Amino acid sequence: MINSSILESPIDYLKGIGPLKGDLLRKELNIHSFEDLLNHFPLRHIDRTQVNFISEINFNTDFIQVKGYIDDWQVLGVGRAKRLVAQLKDKSGDLELVWFQGANWIEKMLERRVEWLVYGKISFFNSKAQMSHPEMEIAADINVEGMPFLEPIYPTTEKLKTRGLNGRQIGKLVYNLLPQINAKDLPENIPQHLVETLRLTPRLKAYCDIHYPPSQEYYQQALRRLKFEELFIAQIRHNLTRVRRNRHSRGIRFESVGQLFNTFYEKYLPFTLTGAQKRVLKEIRQDTARGHQMNRLLQGDVGSGKTIVALLGMLLAADNGYQSCMMAPTEILAQQHFAGLSELLKGLPVEIRILTGSTKAKVRRDILKELEEGLVQLVVGTHAIIEEKVKFKSLGLAIVDEQHRFGVAQRAKLWSKAAIPPHVLVMTATPIPRTLAMTAYGDLDYSIMDELPPGRQPITTIHRTDIHRMKVMEFVRSEIDKGRQVYVIYPLIEESEKLSYEDLMQGYEQVKTYFPEHKYKISMVHGRQPAEQKEENMRRFVNGETEIMVSTTVIEVGVNVPNASVMIIESSEKFGLSQLHQLRGRVGRGSEKSYCVLLTGQKLSNDARERIKIMCATNDGFKIAEKDLELRGPGEIEGTKQSGALNFKLASLINDREILEAAKLYAERLVEDDENMDKAENLPLKNYLLATKGKTAWSKIS
Ligand code: ADP
Ligand code: MG
Repeated sequence: MINSSILESPIDYLKGIGPLKGDLLRKELNIHSFEDLLNHFPLRHIDRTQVNFISEINFNTDFIQVKGYIDDWQVLGVGRAKRLVAQLKDKSGDLELVWFQGANWIEKMLERRVEWLVYGKISFFNSKAQMSHPEMEIAADINVEGMPFLEPIYPTTEKLKTRGLNGRQIGKLVYNLLPQINAKDLPENIPQHLVETLRLTPRLKAYCDIHYPPSQEYYQQALRRLKFEELFIAQIRHNLTRVRRNRHSRGIRFESVGQLFNTFYEKYLPFTLTGAQKRVLKEIRQDTARGHQMNRLLQGDVGSGKTIVALLGMLLAADNGYQSCMMAPTEILAQQHFAGLSELLKGLPVEIRILTGSTKAKVRRDILKELEEGLVQLVVGTHAIIEEKVKFKSLGLAIVDEQHRFGVAQRAKLWSKAAIPPHVLVMTATPIPRTLAMTAYGDLDYSIMDELPPGRQPITTIHRTDIHRMKVMEFVRSEIDKGRQVYVIYPLIEESEKLSYEDLMQGYEQVKTYFPEHKYKISMVHGRQPAEQKEENMRRFVNGETEIMVSTTVIEVGVNVPNASVMIIESSEKFGLSQLHQLRGRVGRGSEKSYCVLLTGQKLSNDARERIKIMCATNDGFKIAEKDLELRGPGEIEGTKQSGALNFKLASLINDREILEAAKLYAERLVEDDENMDKAENLPLKNYLLATKGKTAWSKIS
């Protein structure tokens, strides 16, 4: 922009900073400009007029401000255990202050016979109160005259604390900065009518109030405004991407529903579709008929019947003279899809092939040729399908099964396979929390299948500790005697493939002692087996030749054995929620009553206990996904780690759901109504988007 704003000034230019502190702020907090400092938000506010007595500290005390003298301090321990301990005294008692880092610096700073104002969090060690890494200042140095009574405390680092930039001192910098900023530096970026309807604090005021609020109420309002802004801008960007693609991208048109689709639907479909399946099919049908490319995320719970929807989509493509591919994350799953789809298509004039990493060279050559010549309509496989050598005559639809994220790079590979980009349907492995889907995948259209096929009996899930394993195995035996099949799953130990393997082998031996080989047949599948052996073991279980499947999580996704009715998960405390849900989804696929037994050790962490509890309480994958998000936080949910879309500075996907819903609603309306933002009311927003294009907080991180 031509008229540069004061916000772009280098941080060194701010009163009280200078090159030395400037360097520290850049290195430690990534604060380069006035704007960065303005966007460095306080952790909390303290009432600076509120000073407590040390004797008032009790087990419920959280953050507290006290005043006193320090006459004594000691450096204890050596090496990593080295710490500085000081005794703070006021007339009511004394409090231990502890520093685990920067002891040397702190020691230099400490002075006797002066009164300190000390602020920090109380913790208890051997029932004795202590405050570690407090904010410390000489009381006489503090000039509170005329300052707002709510004082902001900022995130900082140990290094900065010892260089005159502790959480309070940063506040003083901000205090100097705020009066220099005016409305032209922070123009409103939300349309005025929305600011009014939603009673949002105007932008400049919100920035002032979030740092130095006149009251807690003003702070909350400022926070709400800035969270809304953050989410609204992200939603506007998502909607622009989506709407522009939907309106302006060139896409293959599936003109009509034809012979194959209709014949299959009327004569071959082994059941009636659920309402949810029909709805999604209709959405796909509409998407693919418009002449624009489809990019759809299909969220469905485990067992909701996504495969058949995919197949019908592929038949639709075939009816219109286009080929389809279906990608699965594992070889086993690809094999199973191939077998299942081939069975369903028996008798129909559709050619289907499978292509994976282990396809033999000669067979592969033939398949590649058939694909290129258009002799084959459907190909199922792993990512081997999108390798460069694979060429299609007319690829019209790509289905990605059991994966959340289909990366940009992979998309690009797909695009290169056809003159007009094929339609893409991504099917998730387990549901994603709604807030996460809205933010991480907001640029995709998405469908939800929240209905299970009729006749399914809910799976009963129980928790047992190791000492009950004998009883559990007796139960397993009774199920096998009724003709059922059983999974026994061991955790994959991430740090060590070797450990996982040993764990599994031990487990296998143990299972054999309960189920002697002359009477029971056991399959075992794990990551170290050659592909052929894995497949063979899998096949035997699928065909009912073996009654027990002992495995690591390699069978986790997608595998379908309707006769299996018991899922035993060993060391289940080591699994994440979505993984447990996915594993449990391997049973309950037939008409028999199914069970899932979560075995754990005696001692459980709180989080593990919580996970087990929710698993026992519900079978609803959407509920479990919400809980998962709550327990782990958005950064840890599968497939979203690298997605910058989740790096919100203020908004939380767990606590700010309502704000997010509102941001989404209004962003959708706005983009729908005025895609190019030509209306006067949307001009400020347009300018803001243009000015901040490609500029994000994290793009600076080198
Ligand atoms: P997922 O959504 O987990 O991929 P699948 O597509 O593997 O689920 O379907 C699970 C099982 O449900 C399969 O055995 C499938 O044949 C069956 N199924 C799918 N849709 C229906 C339906 N509408 N009615 C009855 N069974 C169905
Ligand atoms: Mg599936």
